[in-house]
Amino acid sequence: MILEAERRAVVEHAPDLAALTPGRTGNISVRDGRDGDAFAVTPTGVPYDGFDAADVPVVGTDGEQRDGRMAPSSEVPMHAAIYRREDVGAIVHTHSPWATTLAVARRPLPPIHYMIVAVGKRVPVAEYAPYGTDALAENIVAAMAEADATASLIENHGLVVTAPDLETALENTHHVESLARLYLQSRAAGLEPATLSDAQLETVVEQFESYGQ
Ligand code: 13P
Ligand code: ZN
Repeated sequence: MILEAERRAVVEHAPDLAALTPGRTGNISVRDGRDGDAFAVTPTGVPYDGFDAADVPVVGTDGEQRDGRMAPSSEVPMHAAIYRREDVGAIVHTHSPWATTLAVARRPLPPIHYMIVAVGKRVPVAEYAPYGTDALAENIVAAMAEADATASLIENHGLVVTAPDLETALENTHHVESLARLYLQSRAAGLEPATLSDAQLETVVEQFESYGQ
C-alpha cells in the first residue's frame, strides 16, 4: 500500500476532529515527508471513524487522486496548494467554534498571549471564496504568506493550521482555538485585551528553542 504510514496516521487521528469541529466538517492530511509530492487525506463527507487505511485517498500535490477506495476531501485544492508552496508535513482544517467566531466577524487573532508564537505573530483571515475551490486555496496561501503565519482563519468558514507533523498541527489547532476563546471572552467581558510587542514575541520564540525535555 502506498503511503501506508501516512494513511494510518489519518485513520488514527481523524477521530480527534470530533473535539474540534461539528459533524463531518473539517479534514486532515499527512504528506509523504516535508516536501513529498503526495499526501493522504480524509475522505469527503464520512464520519471520522468510518474508514480504514485502504479507504484513505492518496492525492498528488497536483490535486489528482492516486489511490484509496474513497473520494478525497472537497478541500483537496487547499491541501494541495499549501503543500506546493510550503515545506509542511500536515494540515488540519476545522470549523472550530471560537476560531470560527472570529472568522465570521472577519477579524484576525492578534497577539494577546505568548502562545500565539506556535503559529506566528498573529493569525490572519483569508478572504472568503466557496469551499473546495482553487480561489479559496489561493486566498489561504496568500494570507498565511503575508502574515508569515502557519495558520489562517477563513472568512465565514473556519480555520486551517499547518505544521511539520500531524500531532503538532492538531496541537496548534487547539492552541489557536484556545487563544480565540480567550480573546473573545475578554472582549465579551467588556475588556480590551492588550497585545504583546514584536520584541516580546521574539523573546518567546527564543525561549521555545530550549523548551521541554
Ligand atoms: P470534506 O468532508 O469534503 O472534507 O469537507 C468538509 C469541509 O470542512 C469543507 O470545507
Ligand atoms: Zn470547511
